Amino acid sequence: MSLPYDAPVSQTLFDRASLVTPGGVNSPVRAFRAVGGTPRFMVSGAGPYLTDADGREYVDLVCSWGPMILGHAHPEVVAAVQEAVARGTSFGTPGEGEVALAEEIVARIDPVEQVRLVSSGTEATMSAIRLARGFTGRAKVVKFAGCYHGHVDALLAAAGSGLATFALPDTPGVTGAQAGDTIVLPYNDLDAVRAAFRAHPGEIACVITEASPGNMGVVPPGEGFNAGLKALCQENGALYISDEVMTGFRTSRAGWYGVDGVAPDLMTFGKVMGGGFPAAAFGGRHDVMEHLAPVGPVYQAGTLSGNPVATAAGLAQLRLLGDAEYAKVDEVSREIRTLVGDALTKEGVAHRVQTASNMFSVFFTPDEVRNYDQARQQESFRFTAFFHAMLAGGVYLPPSSFESWFVSTTHDERAIERVAAALPAAARAAAEATA
Ligand code: PLP
Repeated sequence: MSLPYDAPVSQTLFDRASLVTPGGVNSPVRAFRAVGGTPRFMVSGAGPYLTDADGREYVDLVCSWGPMILGHAHPEVVAAVQEAVARGTSFGTPGEGEVALAEEIVARIDPVEQVRLVSSGTEATMSAIRLARGFTGRAKVVKFAGCYHGHVDALLAAAGSGLATFALPDTPGVTGAQAGDTIVLPYNDLDAVRAAFRAHPGEIACVITEASPGNMGVVPPGEGFNAGLKALCQENGALYISDEVMTGFRTSRAGWYGVDGVAPDLMTFGKVMGGGFPAAAFGGRHDVMEHLAPVGPVYQAGTLSGNPVATAAGLAQLRLLGDAEYAKVDEVSREIRTLVGDALTKEGVAHRVQTASNMFSVFFTPDEVRNYDQARQQESFRFTAFFHAMLAGGVYLPPSSFESWFVSTTHDERAIERVAAALPAAARAAAEATA
């Protein structure tokens, strides 16, 4: 398809980047390969807006893939960061900020009795799996097709997110031994989990699941699915790990746990809790967490873990997130997804807008999507046309139909009106698109 808008400064930067960085990006989905065209190089963000290197402003519906729930450059988060930076950027010792952030997490989420801070969601899930294996003395891990838990070797089997975008079933570099203890099952299928426990008695260390998946597009757990997983884990002596890197502190004060109330043994967090900085965490049952070094034998560490600037940003952001802020994000999400659904319906485009609290995404298919196979049956070529028309209309969407859209407290009437103004042309482009 011919692309409606070019971005010369971004293109020059992308050309430079491509010489010195594989694919010109530091995380694959940013390269726009699923949709084509020039990735926009952003120079600044303010509230719900991003400005690119060509000086063009966009309403941001990606929010840095989730973290920026208070919008970009929130003055109180910026002030907390500036204050922290002025005191020094890393000490390699314990500090009060990390205690306060851990206390905030423990106070918000009942099943988290202890928490360990790390620097990325990948580190959090990798460490949680190691801990589950160390605690149970078992090797096997159950994960679900379409759930992404970061680029942990053992979990890069049928993962969503960038791997869904590129349709890679697996990745070279992960050995058979590393993935050999991973059992991949269809999402939302408790019978498959039951069968796995029957087939591998006493061998499964844990079941890891996205609390509510957002990496194959938004595919919420069916009624009773998470509770069923927990019960099966309990019956079989395995740990239930809920990956809340995306949903944590976003879908409610207490993340998805605050929505479905199913208490995991271990949980993982990232994104929102870092306030836009690299901070993440894993936590849960005291007796399990005490298996970690230096108390227990399971080793885990990090030079920048609990970094004072990142913890200051995260703590400032979490302290600003109360019931009113979540209500606001929910309302913005409701308004935008209604506008999107109405525009596509008006043009006769078969679609489903799927929602998990304030996360949502659009599938170009007439049927409800409950697992990864169904997600992959959508007409992604319609998304490509839709995406580029929205971009030309000044709205920045995730550059893949397998990603959640995210909004913030700062998406006000003006920002929503700009989304509404871009939608008719984008819906028409989706209707006219051909494979
Ligand atoms: N888990 C989930 C559910 C995620 O969505 C992500 C990232 O998108 C990760 C883990 C990995 O986090 P990070 O990109 O910080 O390593």
